[in-house]
Amino acid sequence: MRVGIPHFGNVYIPVKAMAQKLGASDKELIIPPPTSQRTLDLGVKYSPTEACLPYKLTLGNLIEACESGADTLIQARGTGICRLGYYAKNQEQILHDLGYDAHFVTLDVSHHKLLSIMHLMKRVTNNTSWPKIISSFRFGIGKLFALDKIEKVVQRTRAVELKKGTANRIYREAIKAIDEAIEGREVKKLTKQYADKLNQVPKDPTADPVKVSIIGEIYVVLEPFANMDIEIELGKLGVEVERTMSLSRWVKYSLFLNYLGIDEWKEVHKAAMPYLKRDVGGDGWESVGEKVVHAQKGYDGIIHLAPFTCMPEIVAQNIMPSTKEDIPVLTVLYDEQMAKPGMITRLEAFVDLLKFRRKRRGI
Ligand code: SF4
Repeated sequence: MRVGIPHFGNVYIPVKAMAQKLGASDKELIIPPPTSQRTLDLGVKYSPTEACLPYKLTLGNLIEACESGADTLIQARGTGICRLGYYAKNQEQILHDLGYDAHFVTLDVSHHKLLSIMHLMKRVTNNTSWPKIISSFRFGIGKLFALDKIEKVVQRTRAVELKKGTANRIYREAIKAIDEAIEGREVKKLTKQYADKLNQVPKDPTADPVKVSIIGEIYVVLEPFANMDIEIELGKLGVEVERTMSLSRWVKYSLFLNYLGIDEWKEVHKAAMPYLKRDVGGDGWESVGEKVVHAQKGYDGIIHLAPFTCMPEIVAQNIMPSTKEDIPVLTVLYDEQMAKPGMITRLEAFVDLLKFRRKRRGI
């Protein structure tokens, strides 16, 4: 079996780590090339025109995985009120029409998520024993948590570093080192080492960065190619970015704490209630609630990311202006037509507005 996966942020690193711990060779796990313009072109060429960007990009990844020899493909599936529910079926049909005889194995991200991952691992590893699966899973997840921990420091450092680009360089080194680590202890050591390194980056003592929260649809929020490296671009403009969503948070709650009755979105859903009383699919309900929560916490602004034609985020986008909590929101809609210079111009104008508001309030 040669298993291929689509990209989604750094997810390939824990997946690779799990596969290595399970004794899989490079030929048995196919990580497609990093998402690129070619990936997007392939996805756009073979997807229905109206499909959302995550559909097109993951289809492009899966085509590239098949080109590299994958015969089994992993894709998410959900039962929510959006298109994710038909990604796998539809993409499988497109790949068959293109002549790839790849078999799809789906991962339920709506219900029984932990069980779904465990059974998927059992299935693609020819019935490996449970203890081996569990220990490899822990190793992979350890890498995911390490990367997200370092990224939090990077988000704070980018805004205030004296030499722009230093934090990004260190972060790239950290990703490579953690990817190559072969033991859990080594991962822990690297996490501390790189967090310390980032904390020692020379910073501008006079800097008082505006604080922005990034919210929206999970795929464009967490996939840097899809969001055109928006966090890096904001860092260049001296903006401190906060983001509630991360893959490690999803793992922590969806795979473990939700089973104990702990709901990570409880506060956010409560904040959204006066404006939206129910789930509208994807991350739409959370986007409305996050706007309210971050306004109450005194953030300077919100950047709301969404794929063009994403129904849940269109609902959120239209509700947000009517909340009584006053905070500027910039919605950025991504599709294959969008160009990075256009996004940067909008970010510059938005950051100017946030600075002007601060000045007016005498901050
Ligand atoms: S939430 Fe939006 S972008 Fe994500 S799968 Fe659903 S429709 Fe597509």
